[in-house]
Amino acid sequence: MIEEKFDAIVVGAGMSGNAAAYTMASHGLKVLQLERGEYPGSKNVQGAIMYANMLEKIIPDFRDDAPLERHLVEQRLWVMDDTSHTGIHYRSDDFNEAKPNRYTIIRAQFDKWFSRKVREAGATVLCETTVTELVRDAKDKVVGVRTDRVGGEIFADVVVLAEGVSGLLGTRAGLREMPRPKSVALAVKEMHFLPEEVIEQRFGLKAGEGCVIEAVGTISRSMAGLGFLYTNKESISLGIGCLVSDFASMMESPYVILDALKNHPSIRPLIAGSEVKEYAAHLIPEGGYNAIPQLFGDGWVVVGDAAQLNNAVHREGSNLAMTSGRIAAEAIMQVKSRKRPMTKQNLALYKTLLDKSFVIKDLKKYKDMPALLHTNSQNFFTTYPQLMSQAAQNFMRVDGTPKIDKEKATTAAFIKARSRWGLVSDVVRLAFAWR
Ligand SMILES: Cc1cc2nc3c(=O)[nH]c(=O)nc-3n(C[C@H](O)[C@H](O)[C@H](O)COP(=O)(O)OP(=O)(O)OC[C@H]3O[C@@H](n4cnc5c(N)ncnc54)[C@H](O)[C@@H]3O)c2cc1C
Repeated sequence: MIEEKFDAIVVGAGMSGNAAAYTMASHGLKVLQLERGEYPGSKNVQGAIMYANMLEKIIPDFRDDAPLERHLVEQRLWVMDDTSHTGIHYRSDDFNEAKPNRYTIIRAQFDKWFSRKVREAGATVLCETTVTELVRDAKDKVVGVRTDRVGGEIFADVVVLAEGVSGLLGTRAGLREMPRPKSVALAVKEMHFLPEEVIEQRFGLKAGEGCVIEAVGTISRSMAGLGFLYTNKESISLGIGCLVSDFASMMESPYVILDALKNHPSIRPLIAGSEVKEYAAHLIPEGGYNAIPQLFGDGWVVVGDAAQLNNAVHREGSNLAMTSGRIAAEAIMQVKSRKRPMTKQNLALYKTLLDKSFVIKDLKKYKDMPALLHTNSQNFFTTYPQLMSQAAQNFMRVDGTPKIDKEKATTAAFIKARSRWGLVSDVVRLAFAWR
């Protein structure tokens, strides 16, 4: 049993937990961080694009020694049907700036580095330690945690719950509900290893540059979902995720759709000859603003995925996690510096500060994310991708058909598939859901 009392206990050593622990420890607070994994990052999965701005606010000189894979100079957005993709590609040399904005990372390595920084800042980090319960006093205030270690009861002024999307600890303690199947996506991902120069040649990259592809369409079999391909130094992360409720109702298997994505004629050549060394599956919170639970209480705050702070539409999660962890830490430090107790009333400062940040401002745009993702999903994930492919092919084939007839054929195909009223209603419904 650890006898000493801490200023804060942080549960979890992912993006949000490390951000919170680092911020508090580097400002002199006595911090204990508990992680159930063998090492930080051993349990964590991400695509992964890491957004520099949010890490810079925590560790400004992170570029000096963080394990970064490639900085991104190109983003491809694809709409796919079974044999084609229609794409928007954006590439700019401006992204070859001195301090690039986005990097690919490998979480197992990145989290280890982040955790080393947390230790160097002065926090005590214990791995292979699962927090099993919150300890409360007679007034129901959280005053510490129980762990799976013998005699594992440890006390602190405040507990930061950074336990990730499943959030079993907070759920068991009655702080929030289990995430609903329609509010979480299940993503599966493989790491395809290839020599550095092969990756650079296939994607037209110079050393250190990276390219990412994000794709929707028939690859998700009408389910609300997204496929992704991210270039690392010597590997390609390839994955796909769909809402859990969709997997259940469509009786689809994540492995089967990942296999189909790998074998798609637009993807297969990009990973040809690669060796698959890693496979992972993980949940992603995609409930939007309405799914955010109570964020603070007497003696506790919740951050990151455990607080459902994830922006699925913009494919952002780790940056919301780091920002909420940092802001929670700053709120705790302010309460402490005013010599106030860590009560619900005082910790409300965390929510006040978070509300002013991009995290809540962005998520407010997507109040009901599942409704947005389900807006006529059959049409947006299957019918329209097929129609777009037909239209592009019709336009590109030069076969003596007059252009006016080609235009009529394309219009007729859209109207046949959806009717004029159907087309208008899809656009209107999407616009309303997006608001
Ligand atoms: C396939 C996939 C792709 C993604 N791609 C991107 C991307 O490209 N860019 C992006 O920004 N985001 C992406 N995300 C989202 C991003 O990974 C998450 O938003 C982010 O990891 C959340 O960080 P977190 O610290 O809240 O949770 P996590 O990183 O999940 O960390 C939670 C930690 O808590 C530990 N823990 C849990 N319970 C306990 C307990 N009881 N006791 C002790 N320890 C415990 C876990 O072991 C884990 O280490 C992706 C997610 C997935 C699944």
